[in-house]
Amino acid sequence: MKVYDLSLNQLYRIADLLQIQVDFDVLLVETESIYEFHTLTGKPYHVGGIYVDGVIMTQPFDVLEKKGVLEQTIVHEMLHYLIQKSFTMPRWFEEGLILYLTGTRVEELKGEHRDYLERFMREVSYEDIPNLVSCYRNGNFINADLGP
Ligand SMILES: [Zn+2]
Repeated sequence: MKVYDLSLNQLYRIADLLQIQVDFDVLLVETESIYEFHTLTGKPYHVGGIYVDGVIMTQPFDVLEKKGVLEQTIVHEMLHYLIQKSFTMPRWFEEGLILYLTGTRVEELKGEHRDYLERFMREVSYEDIPNLVSCYRNGNFINADLGP
C-alpha cells in the first residue's frame, strides 16, 4: 500500500481568490507507467498530468513524487477542472493564470507552458486578475456581449 499525504491548501486559497467552489467531482486516473501515460495522452515526459472533459490523467504518483511535483500536478489539473466549470478563458490565459497563481517559475517550464506563463506575466498585472477573470466567467454579460 502506498499513502500520499497531499495538502490541498493552495487549491483552496486559489479557488477562494477566483471565487469558485472546490469539488472533486472529477475522475482521477493514475497511469501505471510513464510509458502508458505517454501512449494515452501523447504528451512528452516532462508533462506530469492532463485534464480533459472531466478526467485528470497523471503519470504514476510515485514518479511524480520522486520528481517532487505530485502535489503541484494534482493542484494544477484540479484548477483546470474547476476553472473550466465556471469560466471560458482563452487557453494561454487559463494556463498562464494557473501557472502564475501556483507560483510556477518560468525556468521550470518547457514548450507552450513556458510561452503561456511568459505571455501572462507580460500582459497581466496582479491587480488586474480579478477583473479579467470575471470577464471570462460563464454567463457574464460582458462575455455574452461579445457573441455573434
Ligand atoms: Zn495546465
